[in-house]
Amino acid sequence: MLSGWREVTARRPWRISAKLLIISSVVTVIGFSAICVNVMLDMRRGEEALARQTLENLATTIESDIGRNIEIYDLALKAVASNMLLPELATVSKPIRHLILFDHAMTARHFGAIQVFDAGGRLTIDASTLDPAPENRSEEDYFKVHRDNPGAGLFVSRPMLFRGAYSIVLSRRISDSDGGFTGVVAGSIRFSYFHELFDRLNLGPEDTITVLNRDRTIMMRRPFDLDVIGKNLGARLDWKADNLRVGGAYAGQGPVDTTPRLYVRSSGTSPLFVVAGKPLSAVFELWRKEAYRIGAVVVALILFMLGSTLVLAREIGRRAEAERKLEEMATTDALTGLRNRRKFDSVIDIEWRRAMRQKAPLALLMIDADHFKAYNDTFGHQAGDQVLVGIAICISDSVSRAGDCAARYGGEEFAVLLPNTSATDAFKVAETIRAKVQGWSDDEVISTVSCGVASLVPTTGMDWAILVAAADKALYAAKAGGRNQSVVASLPKLSLVA
Ligand code: GH3
Ligand code: MG
Ligand code: MG
Repeated sequence: MLSGWREVTARRPWRISAKLLIISSVVTVIGFSAICVNVMLDMRRGEEALARQTLENLATTIESDIGRNIEIYDLALKAVASNMLLPELATVSKPIRHLILFDHAMTARHFGAIQVFDAGGRLTIDASTLDPAPENRSEEDYFKVHRDNPGAGLFVSRPMLFRGAYSIVLSRRISDSDGGFTGVVAGSIRFSYFHELFDRLNLGPEDTITVLNRDRTIMMRRPFDLDVIGKNLGARLDWKADNLRVGGAYAGQGPVDTTPRLYVRSSGTSPLFVVAGKPLSAVFELWRKEAYRIGAVVVALILFMLGSTLVLAREIGRRAEAERKLEEMATTDALTGLRNRRKFDSVIDIEWRRAMRQKAPLALLMIDADHFKAYNDTFGHQAGDQVLVGIAICISDSVSRAGDCAARYGGEEFAVLLPNTSATDAFKVAETIRAKVQGWSDDEVISTVSCGVASLVPTTGMDWAILVAAADKALYAAKAGGRNQSVVASLPKLSLVA
């Protein structure tokens, strides 16, 4: 048993090393991959944060431009609304009235002429002409909202066709000194303003700019599509307040096409707000290239490492096997395949001490071929060798327990060590061997063996040479007794030997 254990311990360091090598490589690969994935995800988050910041700055810049223009225009509307209350206005000529009411700033390219409507919605004054054609706007939202609600303030209409151009209409209520409704002053900002504003920006082909009213109606969008203008996005889940809150971003499909984009909202306070969108493919383009590059290098490194590990592990395994074979060769008798004398000496030493610890009997058989010299002389040395192999086979066949050790002790002499075996049981094994040898040889000259059997429980101070000597003595007794027999050494004899 212990001899088996010794063999395993002799091989183990190599085996563990090969396993350890593979395990440590796999752990390294997993750790390395985890770090790479983490770094790449960090890079991706960095790209996203940068894109968010850029888009937010863009949206906020656009919003502040729009807000500033609305504010300028609103100031003019407010001025008209308050000046309309001047009693002198009724007494002055139309050109003077124009000079009092309208600022020259309002003749800017993208602003429509300011108009004043009376309480019935009839056009009374028009900044662009002294004699406006009759018009009635009492059904328009930008009129009704002020008529019905004194506190409406500045009203920004939905996009509409206004005086031949797509525009958004800004309007304010004109109240008399008692707060009564006396009319509406309205003006417009043409879409051309937005077109020009967007054209000035350096945008990607798939980038979008959406200008929304506070109620989430699309006022303007780039790329321009008339069908989208005026759509209310309040009901669209993706574009609800939570996704497009101030300072917030949202990645996914937009309201018009299916291209997934990163959408970021402006963070201003003007009546309109702006959402800037960039396709996710463009946001992560650089990152993706970098990730592919790093990924390819990492995969190549991992494959190289795993490949080298496998080659090394195989080499280690091969060496371990060679070592095992060497060890086996060094401990095996070349002719018979049994353990050699060197191995027997080390095994008996170990088993002796173990039997001493366990207070268990250790048995030894000494087996010697009978009249072997005569056999050699008659049939030749090679035939003699064949007989020795045959005897070895008979011994091996009869000794089957894991801890048993059968060895060629020298010349035509064999030794069998049987741990935990009493003299009676050892005698049985000896007889089995002896009978097998006798039954096996079918030559004209029958080969036989004589066996000396000894078994004892070793005690402190005893040397295993006692056991060998006792078995040897019993063997001589068997020879003396006529050969082809087994003799058990008696304990009193043992003590004599001791
Ligand atoms: P006994 O019954 O008393 O043991 O007689 P024996 O002839 O076997 O005794 P002895 O010890 O005198 O002879 C041993 C012989 O065994 C001597 C040698 O020729 C032979 N022998 C020893 N080793 C080998 C071997 O490896 N191969 C062969 N063929 N013969 C061997
Ligand atoms: Mg001999
Ligand atoms: Mg002999």
